[in-house]
Amino acid sequence: MDRRIFCRTAIAAGIAASHPLLGACSRSEPPVATSANTSIRGISLDGAEIELERAALKELGDAMTGPVMLSGHPDYDGARAIWNGMHDKRPALIARCLNNDDVSRAVTFAAERDLLVAVRGGGHSWPGKSVCDDGMMIDLSQLTDVTVDTATQRATAGGGALLGHLDQATLPHGLVTTTGVVSHTGVGGFTLGGGFGRLNRKFGLAVDNLRAATIITADGKIRTVSADEDPDLFWALRGGGGNFGVVTHFDFQLHPFNRNVLSGSIVWPFDQARDVLEFYAEWSAGLSDEMYAGPTTLTSPDGDRLIMVDIVYNGDPAEGEKELAPLRAIGKPIADGVVAQDYSVLQTNLDVPFGHGIRSYAKNGMVKAWSQGLVDTMLEADDPRVFVGNHVAGAAVKRVGELDTAFPHRNAEIMIVIASGWMDAAQDEELIAACRAYYSALEPHLGGYYTNIDFDGSEAAGNYGPAYNRLSAIKGQHDPRNLFRLNSNIVPT
Ligand SMILES: Cc1cc2nc3c(=O)[nH]c(=O)nc-3n(C[C@H](O)[C@H](O)[C@H](O)COP(=O)(O)OP(=O)(O)OC[C@H]3O[C@@H](n4cnc5c(N)ncnc54)[C@H](O)[C@@H]3O)c2cc1C
Repeated sequence: MDRRIFCRTAIAAGIAASHPLLGACSRSEPPVATSANTSIRGISLDGAEIELERAALKELGDAMTGPVMLSGHPDYDGARAIWNGMHDKRPALIARCLNNDDVSRAVTFAAERDLLVAVRGGGHSWPGKSVCDDGMMIDLSQLTDVTVDTATQRATAGGGALLGHLDQATLPHGLVTTTGVVSHTGVGGFTLGGGFGRLNRKFGLAVDNLRAATIITADGKIRTVSADEDPDLFWALRGGGGNFGVVTHFDFQLHPFNRNVLSGSIVWPFDQARDVLEFYAEWSAGLSDEMYAGPTTLTSPDGDRLIMVDIVYNGDPAEGEKELAPLRAIGKPIADGVVAQDYSVLQTNLDVPFGHGIRSYAKNGMVKAWSQGLVDTMLEADDPRVFVGNHVAGAAVKRVGELDTAFPHRNAEIMIVIASGWMDAAQDEELIAACRAYYSALEPHLGGYYTNIDFDGSEAAGNYGPAYNRLSAIKGQHDPRNLFRLNSNIVPT
């Protein structure tokens, strides 16, 4: 089978492990053009060609602790390769930063030259915003340290740490914070855009757990921000994405946590999807904060269209069993893998199906509440080439005020992700079109989108709603030239 479809359950992950989505992408190797031996080509913020003097690049490299890598450096190709194999871009230089001073020097170098900048945290930008052609990639991939303070129940994660690093550091202490569903996703982009995870109904989004950050702004200054220090900038970081600078440290609130959670998936054949979705739409409206139940439609590697519900109950498993019982009684599931198990099993079971190098396209939209119309549309628009997942919010996510952070979609109960994944570039057009068609059908039910999975350059102002003017003013204060523009971009005023 030449089509690869995302899978979201332990069962599906097991199936998918025999059809790994891991693979090297074919990468063209055009040399970076040089106009002379003394310089290499770069690109300005406005897209104009500029020259980067080799002497200045050497000076930057000499001043930094980490290396400055040009095409031909042994680590250059590894550093520029991000998760989505569709984005094969070649920066003029990659500044691999090992500390705050390195980031400050790299930012200053770019700002002085108006050089296009991409910031790479975990490299999971679906639309490829952490890499660019001919600009500078600020590579944070080595900043992965996580320290846990059990007394204050706080964890500090480096700007390039992955979600797995955070979970692995906190769980042994019986502590946790909200992280996402694939452990090799970066803390950086995930947190700055919002951060949905299976515990967010109980503990809120990642932005709700952020207590402080270290950020290097476009002027090269290293700033510590929190509710007490530079509160405007701190507010903007919690949802405003990478617009405001390079974050080298994230300080998170942790929560006491029993890692033995009732979790797994219940799977039905797609011909029972109407029964499952109609029941789910009513049942999910009354769930406890502890219960996370997200429906997904997908195609198994052997071609069966399925509907499944991903469950995590963050509380006494016996109580979870009671709450889950009505869902279990719906139709005739072909598999029920919901058992009490270690949370870290769940948090890594999608790592292989969502492996690096896959080509992938996604769209998403926020939904305020399930409706009969939404269910009908999902059934009518269903396409076996498309994976449709749901990040479930509500509960603690909804209890935060709309303007308390810069994350604008507090009233949305779910974030629907419409995606496809494949390995062969010849399928790009067909599978992107399939995702777009499904999304178009669903669009009347959607209100805004999650900036972290924004593929088509959707317009940020409308999406941020009443938060936008404040975001734009803070952007104007800290990044008037819009140096940090490869993101869901907020235009500075
Ligand atoms: C397989 C997969 C699973 C996912 N699962 C979830 C999920 O469960 N929940 C969820 O909410 N989202 C999820 N996402 C979306 C995810 O939150 C975004 O893709 C996010 O941007 C990834 O962050 P990153 O650091 O890995 O990405 P990168 O590609 O490194 O960066 C993404 C964006 O963030 C900026 N950025 C990254 N780090 C920093 C930093 N330290 N300082 C300043 N700017 C920075 C970059 O410049 C870029 O604009 C998933 C994505 C993928 C591909």
